[in-house]
Amino acid sequence: MSYLYDLWDDVISLLFPRLCYACGNHLLRNENLICTECYVLIPRTNYHLEEDNPVARLFWGRCRIEKAAAFSFYNRDSRLRRLIHNLKYKGIKEIGYELGTIYGNTLLGTEFLKDIDLIIPVPLHPSKKRIRGFNQSDIIACGFSEATGLPVGTGILERVALSDTQTKKSRYDRWVNVEGIFKVADPGNLIGKHVLVIDDVITTGSTLESCAVELLKAEAVKVSVAAIAVAVV
Ligand SMILES: [Zn+2]
Repeated sequence: MSYLYDLWDDVISLLFPRLCYACGNHLLRNENLICTECYVLIPRTNYHLEEDNPVARLFWGRCRIEKAAAFSFYNRDSRLRRLIHNLKYKGIKEIGYELGTIYGNTLLGTEFLKDIDLIIPVPLHPSKKRIRGFNQSDIIACGFSEATGLPVGTGILERVALSDTQTKKSRYDRWVNVEGIFKVADPGNLIGKHVLVIDDVITTGSTLESCAVELLKAEAVKVSVAAIAVAVV
């Protein structure tokens, strides 16, 4: 009987092939979204194991970040880039949840998460969220929360300004622009908390810096940051 089920599965997968969102190869029956080869071959930064790492260095002299890390690298044509692309522009939300879960499991039980109280996804501006239909960082944070048991603080941080991509501006311009992009709805909720801000991709670090600048206005708050990928320049 199970042979028949398997045969039926094979027929279905011939008609509707399930493909890996990172490499495009056929997924095996026990694989979901990402094939085993991609899962293994996606390079890990392991930045959570070193305090002084390239992501942490992005924030030096800009704002006080306790700990900073990224799961992998965002390179041209990388598997991770294709995953993020399928998440953000093709709307395959399950990828965000899966990546969040994988990274959460990677950090689970490490020093990096030791005194984190809650996670806050980087908010999208409401108009941008309306167009995309979802915020990829919310979904990543949900998977991360599922793996780590840390609560997600949604609605704490709001994006009040639409900022276009700032990568072409000089470092000084970015510095000027970090204020007033985000707003903390009720800073009283954050007193004495250590929050981990979650983003999909870190490029210049200015988005996370803008978040941190606002969050740090709350009393005795500590801010750490983590992203699924860091763009290598
Ligand atoms: Zn693959």
